[in-house]
Amino acid sequence: MEIASLGSGSRGNGTLVRHGDTCLLIDCGFRYSEAVKRLSLRGIDPEALSAVFITHEHSDHASGVKALAERHQIPVYATRGTWIEIGGRTSSEHHELTGSVQVQALQVQPVTVPHDARQPVQFVIESPTHRFGLLSDLGSLSKTVIERFQQLDGLSLEFNHDVDMLAEGPYPQFLKQRVGGDFGHLSNAQAATLLKHIASSRLQTVVACHLSEQNNAEALVEAALDQALDHLPAERMIATQAFGFDWMTLG
Ligand SMILES: [Zn+2]
Ligand SMILES: [Zn+2]
Repeated sequence: MEIASLGSGSRGNGTLVRHGDTCLLIDCGFRYSEAVKRLSLRGIDPEALSAVFITHEHSDHASGVKALAERHQIPVYATRGTWIEIGGRTSSEHHELTGSVQVQALQVQPVTVPHDARQPVQFVIESPTHRFGLLSDLGSLSKTVIERFQQLDGLSLEFNHDVDMLAEGPYPQFLKQRVGGDFGHLSNAQAATLLKHIASSRLQTVVACHLSEQNNAEALVEAALDQALDHLPAERMIATQAFGFDWMTLG
């Protein structure tokens, strides 16, 4: 199983998960030309995408989905609430997500998360041999999330902000409350606590994703990762807005 990112943060997200000829794109928050450019940096032609899954309707995740899917006739999966919020279904093949879905060699399990969207989910994706979790855009820890994101080989987890930087930073008060609230985004400390609950010796790689460009610093994220993973050997990476991260293999 191989994972890559087209970019990660409040200005656009997209994650690739590949096993053999099956290649899924989770979210596309980039306009069409930018998405195609970023896909080509990862060696992917849009025609090669098996399906696109949408986590929720926020523009940094969904704004580029329709153009990409309709232009290349790619099947799209989203919850009913997400379809409503993005203004209806695509003219390409489209599906309402109500539970696990098998797309060729990959099984995709949606997991409900606490976030201020209509019906947001994140995903656990399984190949015949490996399990990868994508978990961003959640404001707090939930029992469901902790239960469903166990025994992963790879995890991309939101480390959105440092609590003090958010409090002292440039955001207006309403936005500070939204981001820091239970249906906003995870702080470094919350992400570290969550990671302690779900990390196991099986975990090969943890990617910190969806970092705030104003309210976080890579050094703080690295410290939080080290603290949470403690003695576990998992590789630690950071996904950036500009570049995401290049293909990594879960072996
Ligand atoms: Zn987001
Ligand atoms: Zn969001």
